[in-house]
Amino acid sequence: MYNLSEKEMIYMKEVYRGGVQGVRLSMLATALGISPPSALEEVRHLQKKALLKNEGGRITISKNGMKVLEALRITHIAFETAFVRLGMPVEDVCAAVHVFDFKVPQELGLKIYRAVGKPAKCPNGKSSC
Ligand SMILES: [Zn+2]
Repeated sequence: MYNLSEKEMIYMKEVYRGGVQGVRLSMLATALGISPPSALEEVRHLQKKALLKNEGGRITISKNGMKVLEALRITHIAFETAFVRLGMPVEDVCAAVHVFDFKVPQELGLKIYRAVGKPAKCPNGKSSC
């Protein structure tokens, strides 16, 4: 399990968008449309889960957090690939998989990933989406 709630996943992805330089709390709060104190509360929560780091106000994904995001990326691409092969339209598959991908047990995601031939990219040709 990724042990991520939808809210946690949204925070993780937003911090990830900040790249190696990470994001400032005010940037994160603005991007998510919430107050800085609310953002700080969730950042602290994710620090306790060892998924984020907050060094001098610079918030980044931890090593552990990167592993979780990579497992989630693989699961997402695996289900997208499987659904397209089952006949789902390519343009619909990404949004459909985002609804549940973070709830899929990590081991199941890996099994599906292997079963569909370990695709490097999603059916839309992206390496992450
Ligand atoms: Zn996608």
